[in-house]
Amino acid sequence: MTLAGVKSLLKMKGAKFALFACTLSLLFGMLEMGDPLDQVLRMSRNKIRDREASGEIVVVGIDAKSLNSKHGWPWPRTDFADILTKLNAHGARRVFFDVNMSGKTEPLEDVAFEDALKRSHAPVFLQGRFIDEPITGRRLDVLPYEPFQKYSGVASNSFRKNTFGVAWKVPSGTRLGDQFQPSLAARLANFLTVDESEYAIDLATDPRSVPFISAVDVLDGRMVSKDVQGKDVVVALASPEIEEWRIIPGYGLRPRVYTQILGAETLLKGTPISIGWVPGWLFAVGIFLFYGRNRREMVRRSVYFGALSFLLVLPVALEHRNIFAEFGPAIFLLAILGLNRSWLRFKAALHKQGITNVVSGLKNLNALRELDVCEGKALVVANVRNFAPIRSAIDADKERELVDEITKRLTVGSDGLELYQGDDGIFAWFLEKGKAANVADHVEAVHSFFRSPLIVGGRAIQLHVTFGVDEDDSRSATKRLGTALVASKEAEKAGRRWLISDAAKTRDVEQKLELIGRLDSAITNGELWVAYQPKLDIASGQICGAEALVRWTHPERGQIAPDEFIYLAEEQNCIGNLTAFVLTNAIQLASRINSGGIPFSIAVNLSPRVIEGVAIDILARNLLEEYRLPPSMLTVEVTETAAMASGDEFLALLLRLRDMGVKISVDDYGSGLSTLGYIRTIPASEIKIDKAFIRNISHSVEDQVMVRSTVEMAHSLGRTVVAEGVESAEALDTLVTLGCDKAQGFYIGRPVPMRQLFRTVLKSGQAHAA
Ligand code: C2E
Ligand code: CA
Ligand code: CA
Repeated sequence: MTLAGVKSLLKMKGAKFALFACTLSLLFGMLEMGDPLDQVLRMSRNKIRDREASGEIVVVGIDAKSLNSKHGWPWPRTDFADILTKLNAHGARRVFFDVNMSGKTEPLEDVAFEDALKRSHAPVFLQGRFIDEPITGRRLDVLPYEPFQKYSGVASNSFRKNTFGVAWKVPSGTRLGDQFQPSLAARLANFLTVDESEYAIDLATDPRSVPFISAVDVLDGRMVSKDVQGKDVVVALASPEIEEWRIIPGYGLRPRVYTQILGAETLLKGTPISIGWVPGWLFAVGIFLFYGRNRREMVRRSVYFGALSFLLVLPVALEHRNIFAEFGPAIFLLAILGLNRSWLRFKAALHKQGITNVVSGLKNLNALRELDVCEGKALVVANVRNFAPIRSAIDADKERELVDEITKRLTVGSDGLELYQGDDGIFAWFLEKGKAANVADHVEAVHSFFRSPLIVGGRAIQLHVTFGVDEDDSRSATKRLGTALVASKEAEKAGRRWLISDAAKTRDVEQKLELIGRLDSAITNGELWVAYQPKLDIASGQICGAEALVRWTHPERGQIAPDEFIYLAEEQNCIGNLTAFVLTNAIQLASRINSGGIPFSIAVNLSPRVIEGVAIDILARNLLEEYRLPPSMLTVEVTETAAMASGDEFLALLLRLRDMGVKISVDDYGSGLSTLGYIRTIPASEIKIDKAFIRNISHSVEDQVMVRSTVEMAHSLGRTVVAEGVESAEALDTLVTLGCDKAQGFYIGRPVPMRQLFRTVLKSGQAHAA
């Protein structure tokens, strides 16, 4: 079976799998493919049962010692006559010659042997067998030399080997010529039947425990009576040089005669019953079907492992009673079942990983989205607004503790509540409507637990949490999550502790989701475009660049502000295409202006969520090369909070961009909770002070202090400073005195379409030249 075949088998489910597995194991049994497995199992069982031979059968073997003696090889029949006479003299019960006695040899020698046969008290049996002629393939029956047959019987020594060349069974006899001749084993055990059935050999009997005498010792008179008196003696070839040896499972290569002798030892202990592989296989099919029907995992597992152990132990008990069976196909079938289950469980674990928060082990929002409609329940979202900055301020190994503390407070008094955790401090759960007096009371109560600070790693941390609730249980979990999230954000904006989304708001959210659904087509059909807001270089008084700001002109709704759709696009993971669009447009513009001889840099806003989509660094490199724009002319703006909250992957992207020579700017600086110390970890070369500090700068002393100290610190770290939101000449004058490097704002220029900006820049360049 090919690897692909195995894989598809593992993935199969239900009736198709059952049918396939059962058929495969059936074939496996019919082709005796289970034999090696059975052999290994039986060998280990034999180690446990280890039996001694009866001692009733003695082997006189023509071994290496006999061949190396003065007698050499082949021996004349006079030597065998001699052996027979000596065995008689020592009182052997019966003598079996398992050597070729067919055909005639030297007349004197033949007569000598015939004479010894005639005079033997002990009954004598000579070897009979059939040979498949190597060239014609015809079967040739070989019987003892005619004159000998008058004084002896025949013991046949032919047996069948399996696909792997191993004999597990001996026949009770074989038809040779026109007569049925009992096998050597059957003769030795006096187990005389007339049918050709086969009997399993109990291989727990160690062939080494069968008494053995070297034939040369008999010939040379070194045998004593007690060795053979009253015993059956088998004279046989026992050296690999004069005969092909056979594998006896568990003991390696042995003289061929031992298959018959171990068969005889088995028959001596009683009639072995062989039930084959079918009963075991049917048992396994039964277990297989039971497994498929029972749904309780505990029961299934115990039945499965119970059955497997049963199949391993049962044969020990059976073989003890001389009952032999093969369990390879049965175990094979159960193994397929086990492998299939393990594969499916592995897949399920992978899936679970995808729906689990790695840090806390709580289910994530994907898990919640997978739920069906949750009737009779309200969906509550808790939004820990300062989660990201806190997380980046504490040690990485304390994050789990932080989440545990939050979880504890969220679940006070609600046993068994299933919490879902999203990114950036979002937690969600369903509330049975009957459980709390009403949802508002529940949310108020939970909120009150966050009034006192949490203690994490010995530090007191104050969390700011707002809640959003969705009560419309007729909609899908995904939609409800969207509205509850929006409600929590609106609560934050409105300065409230919580908000329950109402029908109008729900419609609004749905409209927004629909809007985002159209985003990609808006890019292709030209509804999306880019506006450029100029940046002024304070030292030279020249326009030195622009920031690209996306615009959406909707056919029905008109202009949609980026604040309205950017965060939705981030949430729905559609920000990648949008960024790629803006980046392409921006690099084209900058390239045009630069090729006109005016140095002009372009800034593009970058959301950390962009990592979920296109590879921005590769796109940027390709575009910069295509439009021949030096990488230092491109700046990516990353907001302070976004940079802090995002993970290593985004930071790695920024590092790759920096290494390419692209500039990085920290946007909205001062609006979040970061410190310059933290900013140092971002590979930024520019700090862009938030417009909140600039708008009133000409008459707010506090803002001036703040901007002055930021400029000093940034300069000492080798970063340039941009002020955004410059709305007046006074503000610009103040910024000049404070040492700002660049300014951006409505006073310098509003965001305008590309063509208009082009004209502004040209004019500024000419003015400067003049
Ligand atoms: P931002 O990056 O802070 O962009 C500056 C915003 O301030 C722009 O708003 C701009 O029109 C506005 N602004 C400029 N000068 C002044 C001024 O003198 N006074 C006042 N009051 N406002 C001024 P806009 O275009 O509405 O963009 C809002 C935000 O949307 C941006 O804030 C940025 O975070 C985001 N955004 C815009 N385009 C993109 C984009 O392509 N990708 C990403 N990820 N975000 C974008
Ligand atoms: Ca910006
Ligand atoms: Ca900004």
